[in-house]
Amino acid sequence: MSVTGSAADLSAPAPLETETALRQLNASLLEKARLLQSTLSSISQGILVFDAQGRVTIFNARACELLALPESLLASHPSVQALASYQVERGDFGQNAELVDLHARHCVLGVASGAQDGLPFHYLRVTTAGRTLEVNTQALPDGSMVRTFADVTDLVQAQATLQKNEERWTLALESSGDGVWDWHVQSGVEFYSKRLLEILGYDASDVHLQARGEFDKLIHPDDLAQLLRARQDHFDGRAKSYSDEHRVRCKDGSWKWMLSRGMVISRDAQGLPLRMIGTHTDVTDRKRAEVLIWQQAHFDPLTGLPNRNMLHDRMAQELKRSKRDGFQLAVLFIDLDHFKEVNDSLGHDSGDRLLVEAARRICACVRESDTVARMGGDEFAVILTELLDGSNLEGILQKMLQALEAVFELDKDRVFVSASIGVTLYPLDASAIEDLFKNADQAMYVAKGAGRNRFSFFTPALQEAAQNRVRLTNDLHDGLVKEQFRVLYQPIVELASGAVHKAEALIRWHHPTRGLISPADFIPIAESTGLIVDIGEWVFQQASRQVQAWRLRLDPDFQISVNKSPAQFQRRGKSKTPWAQQLQAMGLPGSSIVVEITEGLLLDTSASVADQLLELHDGGIQVSLDDFGTGYSSLSYLQRFDIDFVKIDQSFVRYLIPDSTDLTLCQAIIAMAHALGMKVIAEGVETAQQRDLLAAAGCDYGQGYLFSRPIAATDFEAFLSARQT
Ligand code: C2E
Ligand code: MG
Ligand code: MG
Repeated sequence: MSVTGSAADLSAPAPLETETALRQLNASLLEKARLLQSTLSSISQGILVFDAQGRVTIFNARACELLALPESLLASHPSVQALASYQVERGDFGQNAELVDLHARHCVLGVASGAQDGLPFHYLRVTTAGRTLEVNTQALPDGSMVRTFADVTDLVQAQATLQKNEERWTLALESSGDGVWDWHVQSGVEFYSKRLLEILGYDASDVHLQARGEFDKLIHPDDLAQLLRARQDHFDGRAKSYSDEHRVRCKDGSWKWMLSRGMVISRDAQGLPLRMIGTHTDVTDRKRAEVLIWQQAHFDPLTGLPNRNMLHDRMAQELKRSKRDGFQLAVLFIDLDHFKEVNDSLGHDSGDRLLVEAARRICACVRESDTVARMGGDEFAVILTELLDGSNLEGILQKMLQALEAVFELDKDRVFVSASIGVTLYPLDASAIEDLFKNADQAMYVAKGAGRNRFSFFTPALQEAAQNRVRLTNDLHDGLVKEQFRVLYQPIVELASGAVHKAEALIRWHHPTRGLISPADFIPIAESTGLIVDIGEWVFQQASRQVQAWRLRLDPDFQISVNKSPAQFQRRGKSKTPWAQQLQAMGLPGSSIVVEITEGLLLDTSASVADQLLELHDGGIQVSLDDFGTGYSSLSYLQRFDIDFVKIDQSFVRYLIPDSTDLTLCQAIIAMAHALGMKVIAEGVETAQQRDLLAAAGCDYGQGYLFSRPIAATDFEAFLSARQT
């Protein structure tokens, strides 16, 4: 507005003789006053100048406006106190007694102390006009005082909005259960929400955490490098935001997994981060579940060894290492011999204990750096790493065989198993993981086939045999459809009389390109593919039609025995009509067929097998135990089932001579079988001496090349009529 008073007020009285000079002075003063006035009215701040007595001497229009004071009041030279009372009365400070007091003190202090120290001071207050003003008071040495008023309403409002927003997002983030952090990157000071501290068990008293770098000290040392990398990636702009999972130490010393996510919200002129905010989510439970799932996916729960998946991973690593370092690798597949028998007869608990002990023994034979894995069931795999040319691989294999051959003490039971080991070498035999596994598997089967308790190395011939098996599998499907199978009959001779009332049905496969294929070669494939069910059914139907014809034409009591694999019992097709029923439908008694089973089947403790055996018995079909002596050979087992015939395996008959162990064995089997009410058939009788020894030992029947090879039905009829004459 205006400088108070006139130019005359600013000047002192002057003598008459200097009137001209005075006028000039006056003019210059007036000019200065005008200048001052226009300066004062042009600035955005309000100004009040008080004299040493605390009265307003100068003010500008902006001061009137900002303080909402009438110009007339200021023009009347009011004192600081008068102005304050006016404002208090008007209610500028509301009910805020503290503000009133502060204002009053500043007014007094401003006047009283300003003169001495000349220090400026300022404070903020709110006027009735709803404005927020920043007030600066400058005390001058002569006791006067300049007070300026700046309108900071917008600034304060902006700050308030900002704070409200921050409170809002903090609240929003925290309501999700997450903790919130706010990091002033360059000063290093970090603020944490209550929730964040709570998650980790800290509280407000742990202020030390806010200092530079303190929180990073809580990060698990194994996780820190990765965290710093993730953070730097975001700082440098390689990642849009920061996100990392790491362990953080709680106040009680335990660790929690945290998912930390954040973003830089302000940067300096150089682009360096100034402030970063983010959240911490407690993912401990999820992490634990993940670890558990990973464990389950990679380790065998029983033995704690890596499982097939993990073996695969390790194998990939080891192959890489071997390639780099130029070492050989050996891959071993180990299968326990006779494990199934132990498991079936002693129960799964004993079986489990045996597996754990076997795992321990295998591990004891190899170095820490080698991998031992459980492939499932009683199969283990080993990767022997860093094999040098002169490595004593065979020594390790021998050691393993010996370790597994030693007695297993399972509670009350002393059990013996052994192992068949297949070995393949990298890079000699193959370089791909799957090929190495396949090789080791094939070699293991060779070891098994060669009589178990031994190891066998992979060879190219094995490879060919395996490929052959694959081809046969495919062809086998065609075999049935295209009627490539035939059934031959081998007579079973009553030793005492030489009479023939029985025959065994034996299948043959006439392959269109490979010629005659032995059942020993294709039955195992048919068993493993399940095709054996259909093939077995077909053989049974051929045999029953044959026995029907022969009973009519040759011998009303004729009996044909049919081989039935364990796989046929286990995979009995639902639609298949029971054999006894099929016979009945043909008008045949059950006794026209004998079913040949093997010992392994009797070890299958499942109710289904027992039921099917019972079903045969109830239908009048007799049961013959084939290949006796090659398996578990426990006659006590036979007591539990209704077995009618025991067939002594050809391996006992082959070297049968007087005073041999084999003869003693045959005699023992015959005596025991008779004691249990069973008849005995000797297989593989090729010489008259074998026949005579068996007959002398009381063996009931003989079957073998001495009498006849398996022959076609028409030839069989010729054979019978030739014998009768
Ligand atoms: P298996 O049931 O023990 O049959 C006896 C095997 O010994 C037959 O072999 C027979 O030809 C052979 N053999 C008979 N007498 C002599 C002899 O004096 N000396 C020698 N060295 N061998 C003799 P084959 O026909 O090759 O059958 C082999 C095996 O295949 C059978 O052994 C049986 O386990 C299985 N098999 C054959 N036909 C069938 C079938 O239709 N179904 C099922 N599931 N298995 C079958
Ligand atoms: Mg047989
Ligand atoms: Mg046999």
